[in-house]
Amino acid sequence: MAVMITDECISCGSCIEVCPVMAIVDDSDNPVGETYYVKPEKCIECVNHAPSPQCASNCPTEGAIVWDMPYTEEFNDYYVSGHEEGRYKIREHKKKGLMFPTIKSMPYVESLDMSLRQSHASVND
Ligand code: SF4
Ligand code: SF4
Repeated sequence: MAVMITDECISCGSCIEVCPVMAIVDDSDNPVGETYYVKPEKCIECVNHAPSPQCASNCPTEGAIVWDMPYTEEFNDYYVSGHEEGRYKIREHKKKGLMFPTIKSMPYVESLDMSLRQSHASVND
């Protein structure tokens, strides 16, 4: 991922249209829960599109959008277990299989302190 939407989300819809890569789905399409959902295998943390995650910049709800781990090979096991535990539903490609980070990693904000990701700190803090 990248960023993650939490249970604080009030399903207001302000984030979905500002995502440059259409990584967000609404509550009716959330494959794992009842709020809006960020597809980690699509989120690029707005790298090369904006100075900060645009979903969070447009979110009115404190704590609804938080940092998650980079979608990179180093965190492949993290996303595999998250998928198996039902926290994520990673897209399955017809030929490549489940699109885990070892199949395709994504850009991430390299300057961000890793402890903020580990603690799932609010992106807006
Ligand atoms: S951080 Fe950017 S790319 Fe990721 S879900 Fe939010 S708006 Fe989309
Ligand atoms: S902008 Fe925030 S509160 Fe609104 S749908 Fe997106 S994550 Fe939920």
